[in-house]
Amino acid sequence: MKLKNRVSLITGSGRGIGRAMALAFAAEGATVFVNDIDARESSGTCELIKKEGGSCFAVTADVGNLDEVKEMFDYVLKTSGRIDILVNNAAILRDKTLHNMETSQHWDDVIRINLTGVFYCCREAITNMRSNNYGRIINMASVIGICGNFGQTAYSASKAGVIGFTKSLAHEGASRNITVNAIAPGFIETEMLKDIPDGVKEKIIARIPAGRLGSTSDIASLALFLASGDASYITGQVYGVNGGYLMP
Ligand code: NAD
Repeated sequence: MKLKNRVSLITGSGRGIGRAMALAFAAEGATVFVNDIDARESSGTCELIKKEGGSCFAVTADVGNLDEVKEMFDYVLKTSGRIDILVNNAAILRDKTLHNMETSQHWDDVIRINLTGVFYCCREAITNMRSNNYGRIINMASVIGICGNFGQTAYSASKAGVIGFTKSLAHEGASRNITVNAIAPGFIETEMLKDIPDGVKEKIIARIPAGRLGSTSDIASLALFLASGDASYITGQVYGVNGGYLMP
């Protein structure tokens, strides 16, 4: 088992990519703290893990709320005494062109959850990881944080921010055996894409050399590798998982 006795926290793992990672980590022996802002979703993931004999705890918190993040980490550390693996996966998508953003609310929400949330969670985890001389941090970025997209100024800025943050924290963690990497998925079939009209989806697929949208397991398998001992010499990297949509 690749993650035996490891303690992991995956934000936004009530559904989608986060849920797939939670199931993959638990199947490899990790205890998984399943965070989500939606308690029903996180309990759903926990039920699935428990059905397979895995170990997990559901923890409801908004990653963009500092008090709730602090309470979440208090709970993790009181329950398990340590945190080995943190996956910053929770994010929101709010598409709007800049000229239609009449207030700053849209921008503030996206940056608070997608970028400040990553900062809050990493800051809470890092002290424990430093004292254990061990840590694996995986931040979910996006292909849109690299190449941008129409209607996604806030989302792409948040994900580009995640990439810069990842590289800087990788510098800080390396001497303590803490690796920090980012995954930049292309278009993955989850609820996040549910509002894209079918016609637009077809046009996107036509631009993907692999000829299909990605699946949540395409991402979970890479996250599992990065979280494992096999990836101990990999840090500060950004992995595109996009079926060839973007080849840097
Ligand atoms: P999703 O919308 O299906 O799931 C996101 C989960 O995060 C939901 O369960 C939601 O309740 C939770 N969440 C939202 N706000 C939260 C908050 N403030 N605190 C805690 N939990 C919160 O999304 P997904 O497609 O599974 O995406 C997962 C990650 O992958 C995100 O970071 C996303 O930006 C990134 N990503 C997804 C795609 C894609 O095509 N699906 C592409 C590139 C990047």
